[in-house]
Amino acid sequence: MNLTGKTAVVTGGSRGIGRSICLELARSGANLVFCYAGNSAGAEETAAECSRLGVQALPVQCNVADPEDVKALMETALNAFGRIDILVNNAGITRDGLLLTMKESDFTAVLDTNLKGAFLCLKAAARTMMKQRCGRVINISSVVGLRGNAGQVNYAASKAGVIGLTKSAAKELATRGITVNAVAPGFIDTDMTAVLPESARTALLGSIPAGRLGQPEEIAHAVAFFAGDHAAYITGQVLAVDGGMSM
Ligand code: NAP
Repeated sequence: MNLTGKTAVVTGGSRGIGRSICLELARSGANLVFCYAGNSAGAEETAAECSRLGVQALPVQCNVADPEDVKALMETALNAFGRIDILVNNAGITRDGLLLTMKESDFTAVLDTNLKGAFLCLKAAARTMMKQRCGRVINISSVVGLRGNAGQVNYAASKAGVIGLTKSAAKELATRGITVNAVAPGFIDTDMTAVLPESARTALLGSIPAGRLGQPEEIAHAVAFFAGDHAAYITGQVLAVDGGMSM
């Protein structure tokens, strides 16, 4: 994959899947602006690792659910590099709980970060991409958005929403040379899944045909594919990277 000279904006790059995406895009030659919610130490580590790969990587503290923060994030990319070629909407949170006891605030927080955040970033970056008449948007959904999951009505709704956002934006933007695709990870080994109780992990493992958790790099490879030249004629698609879990 050769992304030399391209500029990528990645949300949630301070750890987990987002960090792996930053590193994979950096390895392919893209300069980066990536955001994080509060973990500045993690963000500095990502930036340092990207720099060692020979590209520029600028961390920005930004709440993706805040339109002013998102505006500042995109301005940082434009001021530094003059264009936005790739947007990866990766930032996400969970606030799990059963339907009948889920607080409205936990529902709203997850929708705000996972879905509204992706909408705000897509809207902001699409303005620039339309002027450029090219762009690649990759939204991180989830196997839970495809299949649902007990204890995650908020998260499942947000990730199913990301798929609707992806397909609708893909239809709107296709004639401008902009592709919009989604990657739906399965059960990936990050902080997000590390908090699951052992019983839940064992049950989840049993539902994965591949018989193992995925690694963040395996999601990053799919993202880099959608960002690269070989995916120019692919838009509005959802690629499950889940060891067969969603079959
Ligand atoms: P993670 O390890 O918990 O990392 C989440 C990242 O998002 C961090 O960089 C965090 O920043 C950032 N973030 C959270 N809220 C934010 C906000 N409001 N504004 C900006 N950044 C914010 O999560 P992950 O496991 O890597 O997951 C990454 C994406 O993949 C998420 O969208 C998740 O839903 C999706 N996914 C994950 C799995 C899985 O099994 N892990 C499966 C399917 C889908 P800080 O470090 O500053 O907090």
